[in-house]
Amino acid sequence: MRLQGKVALITGSGSGIGKSSALRFAEEGALVVINDLDAAKGEETSAEIRAAGGESFFVRADVTKPEEVKAMTDEIVSRTGKIDVLFNNAGISGVGALHELEEDVWDRIMAINIKGVFLPSKYVLPHMMERRSGSIINMSSCIAEIGLARRASYAATKGAVLALTKSMQVDYASYGIRVNALLPGTILTPFVEDYLKKSYDDPEEAYRSLKTRQLSGDLGRPEDVAQAALFLASEESKFMMGSPLYIDGGVVFG
Ligand code: NAD
Repeated sequence: MRLQGKVALITGSGSGIGKSSALRFAEEGALVVINDLDAAKGEETSAEIRAAGGESFFVRADVTKPEEVKAMTDEIVSRTGKIDVLFNNAGISGVGALHELEEDVWDRIMAINIKGVFLPSKYVLPHMMERRSGSIINMSSCIAEIGLARRASYAATKGAVLALTKSMQVDYASYGIRVNALLPGTILTPFVEDYLKKSYDDPEEAYRSLKTRQLSGDLGRPEDVAQAALFLASEESKFMMGSPLYIDGGVVFG
């Protein structure tokens, strides 16, 4: 059991990669706090963990709202006494070349994908600092390092998360806290299915074409990223600090 006795908070874990990571962390013994904006999906993930014999509860909070994030952190610490792992996973996609993009769409993606990493970190860090230990995993993307058509706003957020990760690591290393980033390629989740539907006349054809861009010949699955998140959460990655971890089927180097 790689996370026995640990308490892990995963933002946006009602769906996709977050959900898959929550199920995997619970299998390895963690008490997993599920967070999501969508209460029905979050409650469902948490109930699934409990039904399988694991420990979990759900806290609804919008990661862009400081008062909700603070209340969530306070509730977790009062119920469990600590937070060992924070996985800043919640995020949304953004499609559109910059000249077509409305300002409110830009503001929303910046808020969820960047401020949504800042706020949970801001409120969880003091508890980790007090206990002089913790692992923070920030969700970046391989798009931080490659150009993709009509994805500039999204790419900007994921580049920011990668830069944030490295500087956070410098600030908190002396407290025994590790901060690393995940850089997935294209992973088949509701987020990508939605992107394909909204962006292409023929989503099936778009899916086939996306597959040819991977050295692996197929898109990734949420479980592939969950396994990497588990590694960063656990002591097995104790010598990784401020590192980007690619799970991309070879899309960056192909
Ligand atoms: P998803 O849409 O399946 O899940 C995201 C979850 O975040 C949803 O349940 C949603 O309700 C929640 N959420 C959105 N806004 C929130 C908010 N303000 N507060 C709390 N929860 C909120 O998406 P996914 O594909 O699992 O993506 C998860 C993360 O992985 C995102 O940060 C995404 O950018 C990143 N990522 C995904 C891929 C991919 O190909 N799927 C690739 C690279 C990075």
